[in-house]
Amino acid sequence: MGYSREVYDAAFAELQRRRTGAQTKATALHERMVNKHPRIREIEREMANAAIRVSRAVLNGGDVIAAVERIKNKNLTLQAELAEILAKEGIHRPNFEPRYACPSCEDTGYCRNKVCDCFKALLREEAFKRLSYMGTMKDASFDSLRLDYYPDTPRSKMSPRDCMNEVFAYCKSYADDFDLNSPSLLFRGATGTGKTHVSLAIARCVINAGLGVIYGPVQKLLHQIEKEHFGRANGNSQDMMIECDLLILDDLGSEFSSPFYTSCLYNLINSRMLDGRPTIISTNLNQNELERYGEQITSRIIGTFVPLTFVGRDIRQIKLREKIKQGIE
Ligand SMILES: [Zn+2]
Repeated sequence: MGYSREVYDAAFAELQRRRTGAQTKATALHERMVNKHPRIREIEREMANAAIRVSRAVLNGGDVIAAVERIKNKNLTLQAELAEILAKEGIHRPNFEPRYACPSCEDTGYCRNKVCDCFKALLREEAFKRLSYMGTMKDASFDSLRLDYYPDTPRSKMSPRDCMNEVFAYCKSYADDFDLNSPSLLFRGATGTGKTHVSLAIARCVINAGLGVIYGPVQKLLHQIEKEHFGRANGNSQDMMIECDLLILDDLGSEFSSPFYTSCLYNLINSRMLDGRPTIISTNLNQNELERYGEQITSRIIGTFVPLTFVGRDIRQIKLREKIKQGIE
């Protein structure tokens, strides 16, 4: 997949940050240990002299093999001494080499003249991040979900709070166990019942597990595809939305209605379904209203997505009332 200059620069900057970070940490640790144990400096000096002693042994003739063996043994003793000093400090790798995030390429992004997998992963992550709209609810996580916003008076057999308790538990396990075999989900329910919050909480979990997620309101994502399609922007957003591990289309039904958008939606949903990649759609449309997208889209969503119903009152309104109340008090 091709990426824009910006994506390359951002991914490369992250690699450099990691590399410099690892090196600075290693230098600082070395300095701290040498100050505390001056013997370390002597050990290092003696080990560095070993090479000189080997060449001297060769030049002086005599039993070179025995001389080299002696120096080797001496070095092993010195290494053991260093290891012992460091072990007492809780350091169990007795050297001061930087601990790179990616040992294969030492955070340079290239391994044997090829782009390293860590760099590829960073490029992907950066590209998806740029397409997503995660900033909308920065604190959305499973921990910040509040069941007390949902009434606990039974509506039919279960209260909205009990229903939502089950929905949250399902979504939490879904996020924790997410992989490409996970099903697609359809979040249905009125405005303000927590669909976006739960979507973002899932997105965060899946991103933290190292997978590629694109999250966004349907209107914004489709508008980006449209701009690129008609040459008003550069990029390959549609390919990325098809290719990412999890695509979250928030608030289906709120976008402008157009044949172009409908065909984009069909393409996204269908391509991802054929590739076996999970998608999450949230909407406040009911089944009849979903039919506005036509038989092809509706049958795919209804036939393959696991439906989860969000119930309760509009949390945004409740929060607003709480704020106003606090302001008055
Ligand atoms: Zn690497």
